[in-house]
Amino acid sequence: MIIKAPKGTDDITAQNSYIWQFMENKAQNLFENSNYKEIRTPIFESTELFHRGVGNSTDIVNKEMYTFIQKERSLTLRPENTAGVVRAYIENGMHRLPSPLKLWYKGPMFRYERPQGGRKRQFHQIGVELFGIQEAIADAEVIKLAMEYLNELNISGLSLEINNIGCPECRNDFRDKIRKIVQPGLNMFCTDCKIRYTKNPLRMLDCKNETCKELLDTDELKQIINSDYICNECSNHFDNLKNYLNILDIEYIINKKLVRGLDYYTKTVFEITGNNLGAQNAVCGGGRYDGLVEMLGGKYTPAVGWAMGMERLMAIMPTPESNKIKAFVVSNDINKALKLVFKLRSNGVSTDFDLLNKKFVKQLDKASKLKADYAVILGQNEINSGTITVKNLKTSSQQTIVEDKILDIINETTT
Ligand code: ATP
Ligand code: MG
Repeated sequence: MIIKAPKGTDDITAQNSYIWQFMENKAQNLFENSNYKEIRTPIFESTELFHRGVGNSTDIVNKEMYTFIQKERSLTLRPENTAGVVRAYIENGMHRLPSPLKLWYKGPMFRYERPQGGRKRQFHQIGVELFGIQEAIADAEVIKLAMEYLNELNISGLSLEINNIGCPECRNDFRDKIRKIVQPGLNMFCTDCKIRYTKNPLRMLDCKNETCKELLDTDELKQIINSDYICNECSNHFDNLKNYLNILDIEYIINKKLVRGLDYYTKTVFEITGNNLGAQNAVCGGGRYDGLVEMLGGKYTPAVGWAMGMERLMAIMPTPESNKIKAFVVSNDINKALKLVFKLRSNGVSTDFDLLNKKFVKQLDKASKLKADYAVILGQNEINSGTITVKNLKTSSQQTIVEDKILDIINETTT
């Protein structure tokens, strides 16, 4: 029997790994350029980290975690990376580093979900976290960074939705108000919402169930949602954020129903959605999580960040040009060919050659098939006269040069 990859996982084959590398390189360049440093945390963590750090009222913790017991310890494949980054922040005493601390990450995440387009069980996120700044300018910085990254990937047709869900103080009031309104019809809500009602009724606003959506579509509730229940401090924070976004020419939509799936958010939450992505249209989710570091045992540290789903980005991103080799050495003198290949490679010219030493024309064919920029030809004539023929495979023009000039020619005529 043939063994297949587990449902909801994909191989990244050699044919398309260049797309991943493209996205990762763009991220690395852009983030490092903005003084964000990469952090890499373990793929699995103590299960308790996610219970405390993502929250018991979330779908992730309730239904989507890959948890296993190893020698009586409960471990979980990370479903997201903010909790892990915060754990690492505390464990490594990063609060002692100059503030603000700006981090970015990339890597696989695991959620037990029903696989469908844009929803995988192993998927990949790229994300940033900014620690130590209370003010909305930090929110604006990370949002701008997200927009710039999407721009770098040539993705257009996106909408940014923002909201402010308040701080623990003002949110309690809001929770009570929601509870009061939905209570009479509570038995008509889905099982999940009944649980959310007790644990975190705000999350009911995010329910995807059609009946729940209808039940929530009341004037009374709309009034509450639109009533700016948040306190003065939160409201100022929101005004400042909007101001910065305006200064940065970032368009946004205020969506008062945007609550986001994770329990730890405070004040700002935001989501970026693609217009052509169907049901799974969120490419980026993020927000401020001022209480999380303290909740996981560290010193109070305000923080804000976001995560993007790479598979979903890929679905709407124009496919970049694949990596090709620059030179293909064509020769039947295998010893000379070998030397030339390694000379080119060690000088930074991506080069390949025919290990089977097939006929000359076959080697030339191979050079074209690989879409090399140049065929670097060492035929008998060239060998006799100490020259090399360089053929530009795009234009078919060729020139014969003295051997020593090969690097000059290849490097100067970059295509
Ligand atoms: P959704 O509403 O689509 O379930 P989410 O709120 O669970 O998203 P987050 O936890 O905020 O998502 O993760 C950030 C991003 O990671 C999402 O916007 C999405 O692009 C991506 N993502 C989340 N879950 C998956 C998945 N199972 N497969 C692929 N990408 C995912
Ligand atoms: Mg989800």
